[in-house]
Amino acid sequence: MKDSMIYWQLSRLHVAPDASDGFDVFSPIDGSKLGSVSAYSSSAHLNSVVDVAEGSFDEWRKVPAPIRGEFINMLGLELREQKTQLAIVVTAECGKSYQESLGEVQEMIDVCDFAVGLSRQLYGLTMGSERPGHKLLETWHPLGPVLVISAFNFPVAVWAWNYAIATICGNSVIWKPSNKTPFSALVCEKLVQKVAGQFNELHPDTPYPMLAHQVAITETDALAQTLVEDSRIKLVSATGSTAMGKKLAPIVAARLGKSLFELGGNNAMTVMPSADLDMALRAIVFSAVGTAGQRCTTLRRLFVHADIYHKLVPAIKAAYKTITIGDPRNEENLVGPLIDLQAHKNMRDALVATQVDDGKMTGGRRVLKTEFPNAYYIEPAIIEFANQNDLMMEETFAPILYIVKINSLEEGIELNNSVTQGLSSSIFSTDIRETELFLTEADTGITNVNIGTSGAEIGGAFGGEKDTGGGRESGSDSWKAYMRRATNTINYSNQLTLAQGIKFDVKGDD
Ligand code: NAD
Repeated sequence: MKDSMIYWQLSRLHVAPDASDGFDVFSPIDGSKLGSVSAYSSSAHLNSVVDVAEGSFDEWRKVPAPIRGEFINMLGLELREQKTQLAIVVTAECGKSYQESLGEVQEMIDVCDFAVGLSRQLYGLTMGSERPGHKLLETWHPLGPVLVISAFNFPVAVWAWNYAIATICGNSVIWKPSNKTPFSALVCEKLVQKVAGQFNELHPDTPYPMLAHQVAITETDALAQTLVEDSRIKLVSATGSTAMGKKLAPIVAARLGKSLFELGGNNAMTVMPSADLDMALRAIVFSAVGTAGQRCTTLRRLFVHADIYHKLVPAIKAAYKTITIGDPRNEENLVGPLIDLQAHKNMRDALVATQVDDGKMTGGRRVLKTEFPNAYYIEPAIIEFANQNDLMMEETFAPILYIVKINSLEEGIELNNSVTQGLSSSIFSTDIRETELFLTEADTGITNVNIGTSGAEIGGAFGGEKDTGGGRESGSDSWKAYMRRATNTINYSNQLTLAQGIKFDVKGDD
């Protein structure tokens, strides 16, 4: 990977001309300044962003869906070309390993492909009408401007999940990225503009409005909130912490708007005696330490059956000792830095608390302090507790794996479900009775068998229950969140028949 390429690209990125001075962005890899980003500084500016989104929506919604799909097809092809370059920017800005950044861009490509197919499959149902000579059906229509708020840890994929689907559904999109990863958003913005230019040459009669996609970087979250309050935004799709979701949900609800929340997780795995322990071990380590524990689906709680505890837990500890921690641009390193000092403090506070609670800790030390004094590389930590306690109820966005011994599957399921979050869970077992019971009883939006809690594919609907927000995006029928449904009754008879057999005779003039 060539570092110079990153700075070459980033130095050429700017946002809207009416933006203020903005703020500096630092890489979590070594604390070096990546550049300065301009940001919107007033609600008047954001108001005009929504004006523009409304205007471009009015043009784009009229373009037939399969042609909208052709635009996203071209974006997917461009992403294939730019895969390595975009992955470099993602790694520089959010610190995940280069391999994981490549995977993140691959997710963008996958969801574009999915959306292209979907552009010819925005199906509605037809229903039998109770009235003679009547037809009853439902049709789906574009919604309007969609606001996408994204978190730092998936700085491009989450946008792509929303953008590709919202766009084939005929909507315009305003993207409010995390202020920790604005350059990733600005690179995507450039790609969209480039593809729009190419598409518009091929489709002069049905062009993609150049401002149907806008990046709105704001100086503060409070300012971004004015977008959430704006009733012209027809869907607020927000990914981030549960605290953020709890703040924004009542605002959207108060104006009876639509929202799609993808919030914090506190994911668990249950390992039973019949499990293939080699597979379980690999899944546990990837799920717990991948992206330095900063995935919404990171494995945070592990429930190991007493009969195998003595085998599996020492094996996990031994595997942790082999994990290479360091600069994520070096492909030999599996774990990169935490995003910033605050993340480091949060992890340290959680680890101190475990000691008060008699947790048996392995790892958790800050490393590479001399090489990277302004970055936060931490050994992934394992804490063994006798029971699930209050500390385990919280999502600390860091590589901390809590392990508890269980004596039955029922106990594992009860512990699995006893947190407020409901994103992802999994079981390792080769006993079909156990796996089926787990799939039925686990209360998470993503429930897996013999794989880890992280690393979902885009084909399924992604999201979780309870404090995770209840939203679903990406695959399956998640597209319905980005459209409005109309039920249509068509009378092709020569009688005006009322439903439910109601008689209501009105006498005419003669
Ligand atoms: P965060 O809540 O701090 O920020 C997320 C986004 O919300 C950012 O863009 C932020 O600027 C914006 N935001 C915050 N307050 C706002 C407000 N009042 N108005 C408008 N925008 C506001 O989260 P983070 O630290 O960036 O990401 C980590 C969290 O995100 C974790 O809890 C993780 O589990 C969660 N996450 C969830 C999913 C999922 O799909 N469920 C995916 C990724 C991350």
